[in-house]
Amino acid sequence: MTNTEKIFSFIDTYAQSSNALYLEAVIDACNEWLTGSSTPDLSTPATHEEIRRGIQLAILKGMKESAQPNHQMTPDSIGMLLGHIASKLVSENGETSLLDPTVGTGNLLYTVMNMMNGNVTAYAVEIDEVLVRLSAVVAEILEQRVTFLVQDALRPLFIDPVDMVISDLPVGYYPDDENGLNYELMPPEGHAYAHHLFIEQSLNHTKDGGYALFVIPSNLFESEQASQLHGFLKNKAIIRAVIQLPSTLFKSEVHEKSILILQKPSEEIIAIPEVLLAKVPDMKNKHAMARFLQDIDEWAEKES
Ligand code: SAM
Repeated sequence: MTNTEKIFSFIDTYAQSSNALYLEAVIDACNEWLTGSSTPDLSTPATHEEIRRGIQLAILKGMKESAQPNHQMTPDSIGMLLGHIASKLVSENGETSLLDPTVGTGNLLYTVMNMMNGNVTAYAVEIDEVLVRLSAVVAEILEQRVTFLVQDALRPLFIDPVDMVISDLPVGYYPDDENGLNYELMPPEGHAYAHHLFIEQSLNHTKDGGYALFVIPSNLFESEQASQLHGFLKNKAIIRAVIQLPSTLFKSEVHEKSILILQKPSEEIIAIPEVLLAKVPDMKNKHAMARFLQDIDEWAEKES
């Protein structure tokens, strides 16, 4: 068995013999591991990626028990790509601070952090208390430096501005109209889109010149509130890239997602650069994928 399989098997065996809900039992198993009262039987030390993947398999199993569309974990195919881009956009020297305002299970955040060679800290926000306990214990096992906030991330966040925001945005209406009024993207009538408000909130907490990377619905710029979003982005952000993910990753056209990369304006950015519009090839096609990543690297080198 690989280390990843052994880690999954350790958590799964624990969860099967527990009376708690599977996800709760995953948290308990991870806590046992942390305290050393029982540990996976590994013959060689596991890498951070092996640990993340082993725990991820268990979380996926637990998620099937209590699946909610907006709680879905960000899949590795998307996380690895975002991590690749994120690691190219940050400076190699010095520490990078991240914010994931919708951290969920932490899978996306830890995929990105694992790709950043350790010189990274993060704030993580999540409204669901179980998911915060889960992602917090995983952060400890992965020895990642993460500060957690259990709250509605669209309420005031008491954190320092960060170098980069990453978020797989929850899509849908934001029910709290009163709080929505604190945002420019609150429409004059009806509910705001949560995913729009998250973009505005993320920019509120990004340093000047910093980046915000989002997993967005591919039809973001086609909704009935799109013109308001366009106007907002024109004044408050620089759109650096829109990268369409392969449709084969999604159940249907309405579920298709893209990656949106924004930069917060700063005095140092004088000329507005061209927007990179790209399409990720079939991820199983290794040659096409290598070429695509090379194009992304060249773009990032010019842009960062
Ligand atoms: N990247 C995450 C992962 O890998 O597990 C998945 C993110 S999931 C698409 C969106 C998350 O946003 C869900 O976990 C949901 O509970 C959370 N969320 C939704 N509305 C929120 C809010 N107002 N404040 C904080 N978190 C919120």
